[in-house]
Amino acid sequence: MNNKWNFNTIAIHSVQSSNHKCKAVSEPLIPAVAYSFNSADEAAAVVNGEKKGVYYGRFGNPTSQALEKKIAIMENGEAALAVSSGMAAISIAIMTFLKQSDHMIVTNDIYGGTHKFLSNIATRYGISYDYVDCTSIDMIEENIQSNTRAIYLETPSNPTLTVTDIKTISKIAHNNNLVVIVDNTFMTPYLQRPLDLGADVVVHSATKYMNGYGDVIAGFVVGDQEVVNYMRDNVMGDLGQVMNAWESYLILRGLKTLGIRMERHCDNARKIANFLDTNDIVEKVHYPGFKSHPQYQLAKRQMKRMGGIVSFEIKGTAQDSKHFINQLELAMISFSLGDPETLVQHPASMTHSSIPEKDLSKFGISKGLIRLSAGLEDAEDIIADLKQALENLKVNI
Ligand SMILES: *Cc1c(COP(=O)(O)O)cnc(C)c1O
Repeated sequence: MNNKWNFNTIAIHSVQSSNHKCKAVSEPLIPAVAYSFNSADEAAAVVNGEKKGVYYGRFGNPTSQALEKKIAIMENGEAALAVSSGMAAISIAIMTFLKQSDHMIVTNDIYGGTHKFLSNIATRYGISYDYVDCTSIDMIEENIQSNTRAIYLETPSNPTLTVTDIKTISKIAHNNNLVVIVDNTFMTPYLQRPLDLGADVVVHSATKYMNGYGDVIAGFVVGDQEVVNYMRDNVMGDLGQVMNAWESYLILRGLKTLGIRMERHCDNARKIANFLDTNDIVEKVHYPGFKSHPQYQLAKRQMKRMGGIVSFEIKGTAQDSKHFINQLELAMISFSLGDPETLVQHPASMTHSSIPEKDLSKFGISKGLIRLSAGLEDAEDIIADLKQALENLKVNI
């Protein structure tokens, strides 16, 4: 591989055709569970990690390993782990760095499933955590305890698009011997590379932009080789969270268009944000690309572009917000994001419904908030759809 290649060339050409003899142009799909060896000693060397190779499907397969190599290059990490979902990636990262009676600082608004994992599972196994406004370095320092092991960030956050400073927070974390874990799902390595900014571990829901076509559930963890080896051998393999060959194949295919897809998602999100901002029944638009966004300068520094997500609040009640999304004809009401289709959802009743109502405002999630994932359609058509639904709402309120 040529190290001087740029992102799109890497996404298309790196790690190509490493596992086969026929010189196929796209990575072959190898679903075999078991792999044979020339001798018992060779088998032992592979299982002990002394020799590179594949031995049993629960610890990876040749297709997932080709994908892992590519992801590590794209995130500029030493190694990557391909796993069965974004939640598998997140739970592996947390269970690797925290054990019973350890504590973690968690940025205020995170993915609803991560919130649920922490409150349901982590606490059952004696891991404690505090939600902290990580836009304030003082608040982070105040909340570091003697048993704190990690800081968990998601930036921009879901669904309010708060941006946190990975570089500064990583410095503070390292001064206190803490590990920084960053959920990079909303950005992808095309728009933001947390490891370059000092973070220790990156997690992804590859279900979203990385695959990009809405037909795979998968995740990644990226970090140092030693950490990733530990995760593979002692967490992922034992909990059975591996990514299968077919999903790996689909993601390898989706990654080839990641750069051009992200450009289009970003273009469309900006046009949609601008449109919503000028509409008089839209109360507020959350979009890091606006000068009025509280972390606009940081967003410009930290992110290549502003991403494909726009969240906004409609004037009126939660019922009016629901009525508005019900009126949309092109945009679909759905839980996911990062697909070719424009998707909308109502976080308070959908993705973040596991958060008790009284806590929603603490996370900045108002009852009228709507999250929109800009798809790859023509922007004029998405905007026309939003416009007709807003006009319909105006007549009704
Ligand atoms: C969807 C999502 C997850 C969880 O990913 P799954 O693949 O559904 O397990 C985690 N973090 C963020 C930011 C997400 O959007």
